[in-house]
Amino acid sequence: MRFSRCYLEITNRCNLSCSFCPKTKRPARTLSPAEFRLLAEKIRPYTDYLYLHVLGEPLMHPQLEGLLDICRELSFRVVITTNGTLLPAQETMLLSSPALYKINVSLHSFEANAPGDFGAYLSGCFSFAKKSGEAGKLVDLRLWNLDGETTRGQNAQNDSILEALEAVFPQPWVRNTWGFRLRDRVFVHYAEKFDWPDLSLEEQSACGTCRALRDQIAVLSDGTVVPCCLDHEGDIPLGNLFSQNLPEILDDTPAKLLLSGFFAQKLSHPLCRRCGYAKRFR
Ligand code: SF4
Repeated sequence: MRFSRCYLEITNRCNLSCSFCPKTKRPARTLSPAEFRLLAEKIRPYTDYLYLHVLGEPLMHPQLEGLLDICRELSFRVVITTNGTLLPAQETMLLSSPALYKINVSLHSFEANAPGDFGAYLSGCFSFAKKSGEAGKLVDLRLWNLDGETTRGQNAQNDSILEALEAVFPQPWVRNTWGFRLRDRVFVHYAEKFDWPDLSLEEQSACGTCRALRDQIAVLSDGTVVPCCLDHEGDIPLGNLFSQNLPEILDDTPAKLLLSGFFAQKLSHPLCRRCGYAKRFR
């Protein structure tokens, strides 16, 4: 039982309200360092890569530096996904953290929150990306806002984002599967928009599979274990990592039913039948 990654939601609070984000009706909650250590220690035997979010903006966590120190103690490789607004404020701490392996910056979040100081936002993100690459950390600058067939997508801001990028990371860039490599360890990553699973949506399909519970699991900030990082409301609760251990949770009926369904090309849970992401595996 090993996962390529585990998501641990250190806070479900956010400083933005993006149109593409499903948000959550769960109570606002932030893990204390003691709670984080307890959960991280339970997760550690089952993955090397810890992602510090499900929903929420991880750079808002008031003791993030302490959490990263715990991750270093436990020899985790940490991945942080951020909307980028707090990168300038947290830059020194992040770049000096040995545990931090990669930062994903959701550049598409700005479009959803305009108006604002677009130039200052981009320059904060790009300056961080440059220093981060030089410090040996991976950076993915995400434009997950494609909704058509063009390379640059339908988002009106994409062109100006790329122009600003060229000023900081001069061409030539190298094309790769997902977008471009701008320089060592710094990438632009494109993806299509997808529909977050939601029980209020119409059912899409009962047939299909998913890599959840094989590649990944997620733990919400109240300790609830869910199969994937898209279960933003905890609609598929498999157990609680505060009171249980991972093998016990994964050996229990809800997890086994879900997984055996995935092997049989059957989406047994109503949420999975309403999941736009599962389309990728059809
Ligand atoms: S099908 Fe969607 S909701 Fe279900 S486990 Fe996979 S990613 Fe999560």
